Amino acid sequence: KLYNQVQDLKGNIRVYCRVRPQFGGQSNGLSCVDNIEDRTITVLAPTKNGKEGRKSFTFNKIFSPSATQAEVFSDTQPLIRSVLDGYNVCIFAYGQTGSGKTHTMSGPKELTEEGLGVNYRALGDLFEISNQRKETISYEILVQMLEIYNEQVKDLLATDDIRNSSQNGINVPDANLVRVSSTSDVMNLMNLGQKNRTVFSTAMNDRSSRSHSCLTVHVQGKDLTSGNVFHGSMHLVDLAGSERVDKSEVTGDRLKEAQHINKSLAALGDVIASLASKSSHVPYRNSKLTQLLQDSLGGQAKTLMFVHIAPEYEAHGETLSTLKFAERVA
Ligand code: ADP
Ligand code: MG
Repeated sequence: KLYNQVQDLKGNIRVYCRVRPQFGGQSNGLSCVDNIEDRTITVLAPTKNGKEGRKSFTFNKIFSPSATQAEVFSDTQPLIRSVLDGYNVCIFAYGQTGSGKTHTMSGPKELTEEGLGVNYRALGDLFEISNQRKETISYEILVQMLEIYNEQVKDLLATDDIRNSSQNGINVPDANLVRVSSTSDVMNLMNLGQKNRTVFSTAMNDRSSRSHSCLTVHVQGKDLTSGNVFHGSMHLVDLAGSERVDKSEVTGDRLKEAQHINKSLAALGDVIASLASKSSHVPYRNSKLTQLLQDSLGGQAKTLMFVHIAPEYEAHGETLSTLKFAERVA
């Protein structure tokens, strides 16, 4: 409820910044993060002539390196509940490769209960709440997993042993939509999706940092008294790494990937910024990602952007550009 009151005042876009713990060794432990408060982060912004500048950015919330997965999720939870009330929600993880996007959305490689990321916790909440409401509303929960690589959409759940569910009333590309009813169903699907992602990538080339992966959850609710049917959806998007690549150093496939990533992240930034400024034209058509999410960005839909910061000193350039991106959409 509090969340919805805040929303009325602030619109439907929120930005959370999460700073990953610093890994030992680099830069003698020097950090590019100068100070973290509840809502403001200050980072080093060295000037060209060597002066040690600083710059502060304010968002809805800053999570310091000590924030746990549970803490991060508790500030996300109200958004999840609204999906069961028929809202569309998009949650994005933005940041350079290695800044913690996958950690936030999925969790660390060795997954433990505490390590579970937003994806698992969100689905867990959906099951729990829909179960609590089962006397009054009957819910059906379906998921899709897609990857966007070089502006091409791939279905990560495309296998023979998965049956297609009915896609009535849901605007989705031609991709498998799988009914789930427990967190272990979701775990199995995520593992399958992850495997397929690896299959698509060529030997030497882990493409997870250069593609967007999107877990989409469709919820259909039926009010058992009135018989009314409503839909909600949630897109959980682990974006491609936002780092600038040095165009003089990359060629061929790498250059093409980099151009596609730049283009789609810029398009996403443009869409959210124009929604935030209530502009009359929202440029959805400029990338596959924004086309795919068009129905879930804007209008009554709610958007949460997690921006991830790598705190090492040598990351200061990327950190600054990440924060500038986030500032534009906040
Ligand atoms: P990205 O997906 O942005 O490339 P990862 O999520 O893979 O980055 O994070 C890089 C590494 O840092 C991983 O080993 C991850 O487990 C670890 N890591 C990231 N964020 C945190 C965090 N908040 N706490 C502990 N370890 C983290
Ligand atoms: Mg990742």
